[in-house]
Amino acid sequence: MTQAGAPPPGRNEEGRSREEALAGRGRRVVIVGAGITGLACAWRLSEVARERALSLDLALLEAAERPGGVIATERSDGFLIEGGPDNFISEKPWALDLCRRLGLEDQILGTNPHCRRSFVARDGGMKPVPEGYQLMAPSRILPFVATRALSLRGKARAACDLVLPRGPQVPDESLASFVTRRFGREALERLAQPLIAGIYHADPERLSLRATFPRFLEMERAHRSVILALVRGRRRSGASGRGVSGARYSLFVTLRDGLQILVDRLAARLPPGALRLGERVMSLERRGPGWLVATQTGDRLPADAVVLALPAHAIGSILRDVDAGLAAHLKAIPYGTSITVSLGYRRADVPHPLDGFGFVVPRAEKRALVACSFSSVKYPGRAPEGAVLLRAFIAGPAAGAAETATPERRARDELRDILGVTAPPLCARTWVWPRSMAQYDVGHLERVAGIDARLARLPGLHLAGNGLRGVGVPDCVRGGEAAAEAVAAGWAP
Ligand SMILES: Cc1cc2nc3c(=O)[nH]c(=O)nc-3n(C[C@H](O)[C@H](O)[C@H](O)COP(=O)(O)OP(=O)(O)OC[C@H]3O[C@@H](n4cnc5c(N)ncnc54)[C@H](O)[C@@H]3O)c2cc1C
Repeated sequence: MTQAGAPPPGRNEEGRSREEALAGRGRRVVIVGAGITGLACAWRLSEVARERALSLDLALLEAAERPGGVIATERSDGFLIEGGPDNFISEKPWALDLCRRLGLEDQILGTNPHCRRSFVARDGGMKPVPEGYQLMAPSRILPFVATRALSLRGKARAACDLVLPRGPQVPDESLASFVTRRFGREALERLAQPLIAGIYHADPERLSLRATFPRFLEMERAHRSVILALVRGRRRSGASGRGVSGARYSLFVTLRDGLQILVDRLAARLPPGALRLGERVMSLERRGPGWLVATQTGDRLPADAVVLALPAHAIGSILRDVDAGLAAHLKAIPYGTSITVSLGYRRADVPHPLDGFGFVVPRAEKRALVACSFSSVKYPGRAPEGAVLLRAFIAGPAAGAAETATPERRARDELRDILGVTAPPLCARTWVWPRSMAQYDVGHLERVAGIDARLARLPGLHLAGNGLRGVGVPDCVRGGEAAAEAVAAGWAP
């Protein structure tokens, strides 16, 4: 927004253009938010500046007193506890590549090869998710026929996918609508809903299929039957059922010392003084060809380019006076609260064999828990000898209620019912992450297109973070790095 007395658009106080202004000094870039998105962006930018021998004046402003955002690892009584994400998918290469570039390759751990299965809670107990089941549909027929996670009728309805015609061409469809029309209500309620809630912590009735799992839509388009597409895909990629890109690692990987090490390594590689903690950004203002970034402490930082690497609602607040329409689009992206409760037990105090990576809980079970990972079974080094670490998730409407109540109590009560654990834990740690998980509702991609169109009118401003193009750690790394490349693309060669 140009103010009275401010220089004309495209010119700075001395009347110089962006290129003229940049000629004599370093490129001033302000990145806001030091979660994984902002950190990946900052480091990629410093890499590019170094490669091109350009001087970079970089500030990474973070409201909290620590970097990492929702990535937080703690050690307590021999347990290694993840407060936010505890692993990431290896098929999306961006986080793995970042780890390699940072020299963290020897930290990368695959999942325990002996227990690669999960359970789904049903009627007070747990049933194994059928082997080869891919979120919505089976890729292997026999385990699906044998499963006790669905009734006979439910399985028969799911098998109708093999003969059903393609669905109508619509601009977007909810995940629940897609799963119901292809596999039936029971497959949605008993398998797809809980498995997907374990990833997106979201309501499938609202979740956009195109924005979250477009590959299932493509399968229907290309093969008509999703089950046939999965079975053929599995045969093509060999008996393991894995794609070529995952050949070296399991589908999910983590870091030996916890994901915080990725954050710490990134922070340590930034130019000295670039990371500024305890600096909350309040607003932005157009200033000539660049921007003025106002912080809560009263600082006003001039910048040639700004990257807002924040949850969409936080970006919306900062941009309210820059472009109210853009801010409204961003604030309309819903976010949910997630809670993790990590509980360490003596192994002997957990009656269940823990012969899997954890369980998910269908909404139909009416519990606060959405899922629980058997963290110390999934990855080594998470619990001391003779102990196990369980990590319960509370999300959705229950997270709002549990936030003010006692999430640890609720998690322990439900683990008592489902796993039979009655003993007190050796250690317990709860993290509450308010409005942290973006929910990509039906129409999300159109909303993002609208955001991009408005953003194109604001040169030097770039947006990233989990509200736009993927919520997982790899997507956030890609978004941060893409923002860095976009900033650098504006630098004259
Ligand atoms: C409980 C939980 C479990 C998850 N599990 C997984 C998983 O296993 N695998 C996976 O791939 N993904 C997982 N995710 C998703 C993934 O971790 C996140 O989407 C991703 O880490 C978000 O990173 P970010 O940098 O975009 O945002 P954040 O981590 O939210 O970082 C944003 C940063 O911006 C700061 N900030 C906010 N406002 C301002 C302001 N005005 N000025 C300055 N700074 C500000 C915040 O303090 C924060 O540090 C999980 C998420 C949660 C919450």
